[in-house]
Amino acid sequence: MTWQDDLIRRYPNLFVRSFRGVPFAPGYPRCHDGWQNVVARLAERVAAVSGDGTVYFTHMVAEHGALRVHWTSRSELPQRSALKVEEAVALAEARSLSTCAECGAQGRLFASAFRIFPACKGHQQGTAVPVISGFHDVFLRRGIVRRRSTLERVRYDWASDAFVHAPAENIAKEKRHG
Ligand SMILES: [Zn+2]
Repeated sequence: MTWQDDLIRRYPNLFVRSFRGVPFAPGYPRCHDGWQNVVARLAERVAAVSGDGTVYFTHMVAEHGALRVHWTSRSELPQRSALKVEEAVALAEARSLSTCAECGAQGRLFASAFRIFPACKGHQQGTAVPVISGFHDVFLRRGIVRRRSTLERVRYDWASDAFVHAPAENIAKEKRHG
């Protein structure tokens, strides 16, 4: 049994649909084995928000070195819940970029044989992909403050597996000098 089978059996509501009476998983994780903990944590977080089958994954693939996840819901979700699911997906996508595709250790993006993938020091091959500060590592997070939709600049923090606030000052300063 693969780790994907194991995960899908643990969270059938998040994965399994029926196609002409036959069970199948449209969001079957088609990604590197090194990402299995990233995907498991994603499933755990989404199940905590909506584990009753309302929310399910429709697409989960490795694309250009990152995990790409699509999901849908069978009925309209409260905005707060939808944001929590979006946050869980954004965290998994951000973490995948620096999680070795082979072993799951912390790593960075490399390019080899025209493919881009994250790798640790032990599994690296090819050329390191330059990190552009403020582009690769800064994300915009949607939130709600006093019922208004907000956007916050955040940076992914590996150690805490969370987004931390990323002040805009440095980038603004660089621009002024340039
Ligand atoms: Zn590795």
